[in-house]
Amino acid sequence: MYIVGGHFDSTSPAAQTNAPGAEDNASGAAGVLEMARILADYPPQATVRFIAFSGEEQGLDGSEYYVSQLSAAERARIKGVFIMDMIGYKSQAYPLNVLLESSNSVPGAVSLVTTLNTNAQTYTALDVDISYYPWGSDHVPFLDVNIPTVLLIEQEYDSYPCYHKTCDTPDKLTPRRRVRCCACSSQRSTPPLARAGWPTSTAMVRSMCSTCNS
Ligand SMILES: [Zn+2]
Repeated sequence: MYIVGGHFDSTSPAAQTNAPGAEDNASGAAGVLEMARILADYPPQATVRFIAFSGEEQGLDGSEYYVSQLSAAERARIKGVFIMDMIGYKSQAYPLNVLLESSNSVPGAVSLVTTLNTNAQTYTALDVDISYYPWGSDHVPFLDVNIPTVLLIEQEYDSYPCYHKTCDTPDKLTPRRRVRCCACSSQRSTPPLARAGWPTSTAMVRSMCSTCNS
C-alpha cells in the first residue's frame, strides 16, 4: 500500500476569517488530486490511499491522529508515503526544483528518496535537492513510527512573500508545472504502479510527466 497526502488547512494572522492558502497548501492538495485524477484511468496493482489532512498548521494534528489509528498490520503494509506541501510558487532566483526531505534512520526511506530522485531527473526538468532532516510537515508523524516517507516541497518555500498571510492567493503561483512534476515523480516511484504496464507513451505520462516541463 502507498499513501499520497498533503494538508488542506491553511492559516494567516486572520486565520478564522481570511486564510486563502493557495500555496500553503492548496498546491500540495492539488498534487494529491492530480495523481488521483490520472490513476483513475490507470488502475494500479497496489492499494493507494489519497489523503488530505487537516490541522497541519495547528501542529500536524490530522496526520498524527491518522498514524495513531493505524494498526501494526496496517503500518507494516505501507511501502511508501509521499507528502506534498508548498509546491506551487517559483522564485526567479531558483530553477524549477524540488526538495526531497526524509530520514536516513528509517528503513526503506533512503531507497524511496533515491527512486524519487532518479524519476524526477528522468521524467521531469526538476532540479533535485535532498535533506535527511525532517521537520514541520505531515511526513514527520509517519517517519516517527518508521514508515518510509518523503516530503516534496519547493526549495524556496521560506522566501515565499505570502507565507501564512492573507495575500496567499492563486495569482502568486505558477500553476501546474511543479505540481505536475511532483505528481509525476511520485507516481513513477511506486514500483507496483510503474510495473502495471504503463509505457512512456501513455496518455498518463503525456498529460502529467511531459507537460510538467513546459
Ligand atoms: Zn503547509
